[in-house]
Amino acid sequence: MLRIEIAKDIGFCFGVKRAVDIVEELLSNGEDLYITGDLIHNEDEMLRLKSMGLKTLDVANEWPDISKSTVVIRAHGVPLGILKELQKRAKRVVNATCTVVSAVGELIKQEKNAGFEIFLYGRERHAEVEYLKSVVGDLKVINQEHPEFHFSSNKIALFSQTTMGIDGFKEISKKFLDDEKLFSSFHIHNTICAVTLEREREVKKLARSNDLCLIVGGKKSSNTKKLYEIAKSLNTNTHMILNVSEIDENWFDSIKSVGICSGTSTPTRVIDEIVKRLRKFKN
Ligand code: SF4
Repeated sequence: MLRIEIAKDIGFCFGVKRAVDIVEELLSNGEDLYITGDLIHNEDEMLRLKSMGLKTLDVANEWPDISKSTVVIRAHGVPLGILKELQKRAKRVVNATCTVVSAVGELIKQEKNAGFEIFLYGRERHAEVEYLKSVVGDLKVINQEHPEFHFSSNKIALFSQTTMGIDGFKEISKKFLDDEKLFSSFHIHNTICAVTLEREREVKKLARSNDLCLIVGGKKSSNTKKLYEIAKSLNTNTHMILNVSEIDENWFDSIKSVGICSGTSTPTRVIDEIVKRLRKFKN
């Protein structure tokens, strides 16, 4: 019999749940509704919401007439210039930016106003990074692929995108501390979201204590990718899947236990379907 261990915290985080609830309510009220890019990074969930009437507004291209429409700002925010433009053009703008992301933006602004040079550990072009860049124009993004940094001030403040991994953030913080150039103040703000930190802890346990690990989430989801990379580094028998249709039964030959964890934009029903399927062919 296959032992199935599911992470304690799975499914939507509170930021994603709030955004999805807002969209569902507006759609049920009959609003002509647009979202800026993907509301959340889960292909299945986006298809479900689109089938209910949600339309995507590609902010990088020509906009349709939205004067009679409502526009929802996605969970990881939208650059402030675009927000202003939307407020001018749409009938109504509903901001579903997660409160954690908005709080990071506020903190960055405060540090900038206090004269600090701002660095952000994050992924270029991620929606949240684009939003944070718009809060302070000269924010510098740093990560493992682009670890070089040059600072011109002696007051440095380092932040993290909310969905990055803690080990990488520690590594980058250390790089600053090891730099021989002197700064008078170095503020390290661990702005990794507590929900994703908890999932990191859980996935490490699951990957170590099971024969196989399944990470469930969207291909574009930054935190799902992070969980996959962590699990894979601890257990090579790790697979990242969007939903039950991506399960390969051959993975389970001679497997006695499986650990399941999900990204923060994965609906719990997807996990339920996976568990049901595993129970069917392995018991
Ligand atoms: S992962 Fe954290 S920061 Fe991102 S939407 Fe969820 S609660 Fe908000």
